[in-house]
Amino acid sequence: MSWQIQAELDELRDQGLWRDLRRLDSPQEPVVQLQGKTYLNFSSNDYLGLAASETLKAALHEAIVRYGAGSGASRLVCGTMSPHLELEEALAAFKGSEAALTFTSGFAVPIGTLPALLGPGDTVILDKLSHACLVDAAKLSGATLRVFPHNHLEKLERLLQTAKGRVLVVTESIFSMDGDAARLREIVELKDRYGAWLLLDEAHAVGVLGPQGRGLAASLGLEKRVELQMGTLSKAFGLSGGYLAASRAVVDLLINRARSFIYTTAPSPAVAAAAGVALGLIQGPEGDRRREALQQHVRQVRAVVEGAGQTDPAQASSAIIPLIIGDEKVAVETSAALREAGFLVPAIRYPTVARGTARLRITLSAAHQAQQVDALLAQLKA
Ligand SMILES: *Cc1c(COP(=O)(O)O)cnc(C)c1O
Repeated sequence: MSWQIQAELDELRDQGLWRDLRRLDSPQEPVVQLQGKTYLNFSSNDYLGLAASETLKAALHEAIVRYGAGSGASRLVCGTMSPHLELEEALAAFKGSEAALTFTSGFAVPIGTLPALLGPGDTVILDKLSHACLVDAAKLSGATLRVFPHNHLEKLERLLQTAKGRVLVVTESIFSMDGDAARLREIVELKDRYGAWLLLDEAHAVGVLGPQGRGLAASLGLEKRVELQMGTLSKAFGLSGGYLAASRAVVDLLINRARSFIYTTAPSPAVAAAAGVALGLIQGPEGDRRREALQQHVRQVRAVVEGAGQTDPAQASSAIIPLIIGDEKVAVETSAALREAGFLVPAIRYPTVARGTARLRITLSAAHQAQQVDALLAQLKA
């Protein structure tokens, strides 16, 4: 039996689903060099402009001098260094939880957490638009997997009524491909009524929304009612890694059971130390200043995009603004035309989003200048 790899690739191309890697020759900044050409970048998740900031470069440099480059071992062997523990303590305080645990990536957080907490006989109930790592984690856990249509609370309630065992509701707070928010207040009410727990993935909200950038749950005063608060250090934090903030007991169980935490080398101590510096910045006046700059850009783009009937005005303030196009090939062609004009705005298609809902995904950063955003809007109108 032949493997037919080439046929599979040809089919991807025919369907407008082909993807490849492009080489960036500059740091992650609003103006980037991509394979020899200069572009305005509206595709990164560096929401606060920290990835290439002098602050984090200096923090990394100092931490490398002090702690070295690598961690040398897994966390349970001898890879736990003071920056890891200091970061976890600071994250717990930031999220209003008893404890926090960091992972090598945001992706690794649910992949370790769900199988550690749930198994056959238990139930995971996911919003349909949840990130791939949440879906994969639910499957890996062996629990029964149930899905409710995006933000569809009646269906969520029906699923809660019949769920067995430990029951975990899973959702993103700000959805990564739509930029809209979970109906968090109602979801928290529902999961409490049925005695379920909630895992809330704040990947796109932390640093961006809420007091001190503490995320959507904090902005609604719901932190203490979310059992598992997840986030990443790779978006607004400008670095890499992920975390789970939870009770001390949950964190202790994860240290003992979460395989994506246990069987991997600890994150670089320098990255952990720099994440601590990023967290201090995010929580402080510099964070507020950057969030205000970001929100100005968001208002500027939403005023135009909402005018075109593209998004729900009730759900402002995330830094992700989708322009739904529908057809995969048209979305790819539009993105290519923008690239030709010097703008990087990615086409997002199946399998990242459902077939027939291909879109341009504009992401904004505090590091953008108002005139760069103006230029994008002028080009989109053209
Ligand atoms: C990016 C993302 C992740 C994964 O985080 P990484 O740190 O990039 O691995 C998880 N969940 C959501 C919703 C994300 O957007």
